[in-house]
Amino acid sequence: MKNIVLLGATGSIGDSCLNVIRQNKEDFHLLGIGLDSNLDKAYKVAKEFRPEHIFVAQSDLDKSHDLLDLYPNILSTEDELQGLIQHPNVDIVISAISGFAGLQASYFAIDAGKTVLIANKESIVAAGDILMPLAETKNSKIIPVDSEHNAIHQCLPQHRDLSEISKIIITASGGPFREKTFQDLSKVSLQDALKHPTWSMGTKITIDSATLVNKCLELIEAHYLFQIPESQIEIVVHPQSIIHSMVTFIDGSTIAQMSNPNMEVPIANALGLENRLPINFEPIHFSGLNLSFEPISDGREVIFDIAREVCNKKGNLGVIFNAANEVAVDAFVNKNIHFVDIYQVIQRTFDCFSCSKVSTLDDVFEYDKQARIKAEKVIKSLH
Ligand code: NAD
Ligand code: MG
Repeated sequence: MKNIVLLGATGSIGDSCLNVIRQNKEDFHLLGIGLDSNLDKAYKVAKEFRPEHIFVAQSDLDKSHDLLDLYPNILSTEDELQGLIQHPNVDIVISAISGFAGLQASYFAIDAGKTVLIANKESIVAAGDILMPLAETKNSKIIPVDSEHNAIHQCLPQHRDLSEISKIIITASGGPFREKTFQDLSKVSLQDALKHPTWSMGTKITIDSATLVNKCLELIEAHYLFQIPESQIEIVVHPQSIIHSMVTFIDGSTIAQMSNPNMEVPIANALGLENRLPINFEPIHFSGLNLSFEPISDGREVIFDIAREVCNKKGNLGVIFNAANEVAVDAFVNKNIHFVDIYQVIQRTFDCFSCSKVSTLDDVFEYDKQARIKAEKVIKSLH
C-alpha cells in the first residue's frame, strides 16, 4: 500500500488521478489532498476517500462549509503544507497544482526525497536549475505525468544511456487553431481558444495549447527532465493525439507510446512505478485509423525560438518566460488583451531581461516577481 498526497485534487489532473486511485484502491491510500478552490468538490473527495489531511490555500476560508464539519483542522499555511508533504508515511506526492503556484509544493516534495509525480510543468520550466540538482542530492525520483513526457519515459530504456538516443520527438495536437494562419488569430475569441480538439483540461493549459506555449513549456520540461539538448528535441504536429511522443535511437529505431488521449493512461503508468496498473480504457481501434504528422504552422515558430533559448542559456530565463506567459494568459482570460497580444507580452517581457544564474528558490521567486511587473507594464502599453 502506497500513501499518496495529491496536490491539485479538485482540478482536471486531480480528477484523473482520483479515477486511477479509485480503480486501484488496494494499492493506494490517499493520505492528503491539496487545493485552493472548489470546496464542494473537495467535500465529495473527502467523503469518498477519507484522507487524513486536507490543505486549502485560501486565506479567507468559508468556515461554515460542510467540509469543515468533516475536517475542522484544515491545513492552510506553507509550513503545514511542508509538514504534510515531508511526513515519513508519505510515499508519493502528485504535483498537479496549476501554474507557478505549484512550484513551492514541488520543491518541498523533492527536498523531502519523495517520489514526485510531476504534472506541474511550470515548476520544471521556472526552476529546473534548482529542482533537478536537488532531486539528485535528495534522491527524489521525479516521474513525469504530462502525457508527452510520460510517453518518453516509457520509450526510454531502463538504463537511460543518453548516448543511445538520437532524438526525442514531442507530438503536439496543434490545438484549436492548427488550421488558422497567424493573421486569422487576431480575430479569435476566448471561447474559440477554450475549445481544445482532443484533450479536456484546466483553463490555463487549454489556452497554452491554443497559443502553442504549452509545447514550448514541454520542450523546456523535456530538456530538464531527460537532460537532452534542445537540438535533439523535435516538435511535430500530430492532430489525432494518439502517439504521445517518440524516441529515436542511434540504430535508427523509433519507439512510440500510443493510447487514446486520456490522462488516466500516463497517470496509471506513473503511479504504477515499475508495474502496469489495470484501468478501464478505450483501446485504440487500429483498423481504419489514420495518423498524420505535419510541421508547426507558419508564424508561430518564433515562440519556439524563445523556448530553445531558455534551454540553451537556462538560469532565470525559464522563470521569466513562464511568468510573462502566466500574466498574459490571465489578461486574455479576463478579456483585457487579445489572443495575439499574448505573444507580444511574452516576447517584449523576455527581451527586457538578460540571462542570470539562479542559485536558490528565492532567486526564482524574485525573477518571477520582476517579470510579472514587466509583463503588466507591457500589457498597459498595449492599450
Ligand atoms: P486545473 O485548473 O484544472 O486544476 C488546478 C488545481 O490546482 C485545482 O485543484 C486547484 O484548486 C489547485 N490549486 C491552484 N492553485 C493552488 C494553490 N496555490 N495551492 C493549492 N492548490 C492550488 O489544472 P489542470 O488542468 O489539472 O492542470 C494542473 C497541472 O497539470 C498544470 O501544471 C498543467 O500544466 C498540468 N497538466 C495538465 C494536463 C491536463 O490534462 N489537465 C495535462 C498535462 C499537464
Ligand atoms: Mg502535455
